[in-house]
Amino acid sequence: MLKQFSFADTAHRVGLVKEEDVTRALQRSASGATLDASDLIALISPAARESLEAMARLAQETTRRRFGNIIQIYAPMYLSNECRSSCTYCGFSYENDIRRHTLTIAETEREADLLYTQGIRHVLLLTGEDYKNTPVRYLSEVCRKLSNRFSSISIEVYPLKEEDYKNLRDDGVDGLAVYQETYDPEVYARVHLRGVKKNMEFRLDCPDRAGRAGIRKIALGALLGLADPVGEVFALAAHARYVMHQYWQSQVSISLPRLRPAEGLTVVPVIPDRTYVQYLLALRLYLPDAGLILSTREPAEFRDHLSRICITQMSAGSKTEPGGYSGLPTDVQFEIEDTRSVDEFCRALRSNGLEPVFTDWNAILK
Ligand code: SF4
Repeated sequence: MLKQFSFADTAHRVGLVKEEDVTRALQRSASGATLDASDLIALISPAARESLEAMARLAQETTRRRFGNIIQIYAPMYLSNECRSSCTYCGFSYENDIRRHTLTIAETEREADLLYTQGIRHVLLLTGEDYKNTPVRYLSEVCRKLSNRFSSISIEVYPLKEEDYKNLRDDGVDGLAVYQETYDPEVYARVHLRGVKKNMEFRLDCPDRAGRAGIRKIALGALLGLADPVGEVFALAAHARYVMHQYWQSQVSISLPRLRPAEGLTVVPVIPDRTYVQYLLALRLYLPDAGLILSTREPAEFRDHLSRICITQMSAGSKTEPGGYSGLPTDVQFEIEDTRSVDEFCRALRSNGLEPVFTDWNAILK
């Protein structure tokens, strides 16, 4: 599917969209039809910019009908910022001179306890790509130690083999987040300078390996700001639909983070808010059953606004460095924008008529 995908072709098709194509896509969405690739092209095109209100209304109805008034809450826990790969957009990149650390098992328990007392029951464990300092056996040990505190443990680590995903699932992992960063092979080669991450195909196949391993939740994403955004959105949507179709037992979520300044990266391309919202709305209409994730990278007011329309999963009270919750002196991957505590964030959700949900899964069924 993605092997035949072309960024140039997507950009060309987007440029040909007319107003009536947008109207047809919106009518099809309103009638409950499954949108096809042409509809998606119409909705991400400049021709749809004048239809944002109608897209937002449909997206809101779709989200409430499929997900109710709830927002699932999770928090990231960085286990390590050590990394042997070099990615031009990341603060943890190998050559950056930052304070690095890998949490000991005792330190992970301290971080977990702090998250637990804030009400967090779904944790996302993150590492860089350092197979020596954060091997799979380390991940296994952490997951086994933490599984009694959390009803859901997801991982966002280096790409693993199918067998590793199976073993980690047995250790308590039920979710995988693996963002492709960019689906454009040329850009992928340009921004991934060294390390395992250079292998685009191995990363692209992660969701398949996780799906075959029986991982219950799979999150895909593209980092907006590296390549042509319309190509990224189109490829991400196609990838997500493929994974949903192929591994129907797994819940698929998608995320579209915008590139943030980080160590070694001070100038980032601007994706205007209206354009960004248009992409999220188009994804919601094209993939009505997919979860949509919005992290604390985005400002508080913007997150509150989107939580009312199309988002279903949000992080809260996040720290993006190992030991961040207990105050260890290490450096962050990127600066966050929404700095509210979990409590403050949940109050904001409730004041907007939404219910924060911390546990969506009974551990007995794991
Ligand atoms: S994006 Fe991941 S692999 Fe690349 S430098 Fe950052 S932590 Fe390492």
